[in-house]
Amino acid sequence: MLRQYELVDRVLSYDPNANEALLNRAYVFSVNAHGTQKRASGDPYFSHPIEVAGILTELHLDDETIATAILHDTVEDTVATIEQIEHTFGANVARLVDGVTKLSRIEAQTENERAAENLRKFLLAMSGDIRVLLVKLADRLHNMRTLHHIAKPEKRRRIAKETMDIYAPLAERIGMYEFMKEMQTLAFAQLEPEAYESITRRLEQLKTGGGGDRIAKIGSGLKLLLSRHGVDADISGREKHPYSIWKKMQERHISFEQLSDIMAFRAIVPTEEDCYIALGHIHRRWPMVPGRFKDYISTPKRNGYRSLHTSVIHADNTRVEIQIRTEDMHEEAELGLAAHWAYKQDKVKPETQVSWIRDLVEILDTAESPEELLEHTKMAMYADRIFAFTPKGELIQLPKGATPIDFAYAVHTDLGDQAVGAKINGRVVQLRTPIDNGDQVQILRSRAQEPQPAWLNFAITGKALAAIRRHLRQKERDETQALGRKIYDEIVQRLPATMAADAQGAALQRLKIADEAALMEAIARRRITDAQVMEALMPGSAGAEALRALPPQSSAISIRGLTPGVAFDLAECCHPVPGDRIVGLRRPDAGIEVHTIDCPVLAAADDADWVDLSWGEKTEGAVGRISVEVKNEPGALGTIATIIGAQKANIVNLRLDNRDAGFHTNTIDVEVHDVQHLVRVIAALRAADAVNDVERV
Ligand code: MN
Repeated sequence: MLRQYELVDRVLSYDPNANEALLNRAYVFSVNAHGTQKRASGDPYFSHPIEVAGILTELHLDDETIATAILHDTVEDTVATIEQIEHTFGANVARLVDGVTKLSRIEAQTENERAAENLRKFLLAMSGDIRVLLVKLADRLHNMRTLHHIAKPEKRRRIAKETMDIYAPLAERIGMYEFMKEMQTLAFAQLEPEAYESITRRLEQLKTGGGGDRIAKIGSGLKLLLSRHGVDADISGREKHPYSIWKKMQERHISFEQLSDIMAFRAIVPTEEDCYIALGHIHRRWPMVPGRFKDYISTPKRNGYRSLHTSVIHADNTRVEIQIRTEDMHEEAELGLAAHWAYKQDKVKPETQVSWIRDLVEILDTAESPEELLEHTKMAMYADRIFAFTPKGELIQLPKGATPIDFAYAVHTDLGDQAVGAKINGRVVQLRTPIDNGDQVQILRSRAQEPQPAWLNFAITGKALAAIRRHLRQKERDETQALGRKIYDEIVQRLPATMAADAQGAALQRLKIADEAALMEAIARRRITDAQVMEALMPGSAGAEALRALPPQSSAISIRGLTPGVAFDLAECCHPVPGDRIVGLRRPDAGIEVHTIDCPVLAAADDADWVDLSWGEKTEGAVGRISVEVKNEPGALGTIATIIGAQKANIVNLRLDNRDAGFHTNTIDVEVHDVQHLVRVIAALRAADAVNDVERV
């Protein structure tokens, strides 16, 4: 295991200004926090974070990242808290450790491709700071290196599969090819032990076949060729790593022997010019394989990758791949983004999410297949998405700004309908609280609960909004029908004789109403009068007086100040009734709108002329609008209807506006004679027990 001073020395070797005290404090903190915890290998637990930090020193990462690596498991696995970390190591390290902790909370569900894909997206989006992801990848790499210590084969398999499906592709995505290869090799050995054995054995044979080390032989031949032409090349040869060979065999359905590019060589030469000189001599010596030559120096990949690639047919008809590049090009290619970052470190420190995303987008721009491109466009959407978890670790994707209500409906419609509260990361929060990336959300539910109108103010997903609205509409329909039935029963009581058995059916026909439910709704909404219903149920029963309903509004209202015959409307905003002080607005090319004198619309009407108006002498019957807050109890609406009816006023429209635990508010349009009549209705309603408050709108 790396010792404290060794780790610090390594960091100082590439960054002399590194904060030594920070690293030492982190080391001590981690050792104390993990205490006597043990790894599966029997080693003390803290050997793991220290080794992870060691891996990251190879990438020359900054002191904050190294400290984060040392601390990465303390919050998740010990009693240490993120507050302690912030207090001891500052906000930056705390933010990074928090990021890694959140990534670690993920219980991967890699059973199907989509879940893995989701998780990869999540990890990228979550990381925010590339350093969080680098720590997580180094963490995973070390866990893979020590995988063989885990006793249970199923657990080893699960971790290996997760690595193959998620972490290796992630490493590849951000250009960490060495991480990717090592992870794949270790995971492959675990998942396909026989294939792994056979491929490594054949690779070994190939390497030593024909007496001696074949790779070394070809390599030294290459070096000799180039030095004869004045190019001092550093040649390294390798065979493709076992997993990539196996993948190719699977994809192309071919045998090991049929593979053409198992052996690959890399020539690192002093200058860019040497790259081309070397290429020329290689192509003169061995025939090139058509279609395999790529010049990424004159046309670099968009992530900045530069190199010459070619394949030639070597002795014994063996195909050999050769990459030619300079030292600078090599480092960038090997370490990917991390090298990029280390190089630029003194100039720009891309700590902000913005620059990280810019880098990432750059890499994604190199996408070569349509599939990759699609992947890229999905990435662009990350900025406005969040990822949260159920208590069981299932990943839920939501738009930014989503609340627990959206989350609940995303999990299941029933869960949404019955939500009464939520816990985010174990803390009870209001349902309107926005969810953050990586939050674990638990929905508290009650069978007695139902969707609330207030939820419409903070739910943002289409699914949640549609479900809430559907429920509220249904609820309003139910209540309206119940109210209609109550009024209907009263009407039946008033009939002079017992109703015939089929009277209702006949009445529906006479009233041209489709069914009983529609009849109840029409009664409740006052689309038909009581007298009309009585007449329909029992012709002749309503009597002359009852049938003399309030006369239709337009003929009964006269307004002084208007030329007779001029069209006018009583404004919908303020619902003036006779007795109110009124003003007319004459708009260009329109009739006159009649408003109450205190209506806010008047102040805003710049383009209209004002007309002084007053009510005509015999005017009666207009619709006043009132807002009634009623206790949330059965029958409350019926009581209201009875009170309004007792005041000889007609309900012409009824709307349920708002409902919370104790009360609901209804907007009711009442047909009255004049303003005194309306005042009497309001007074009567205020006197009722079920009513909390009444206001004229
Ligand atoms: Mn770890």
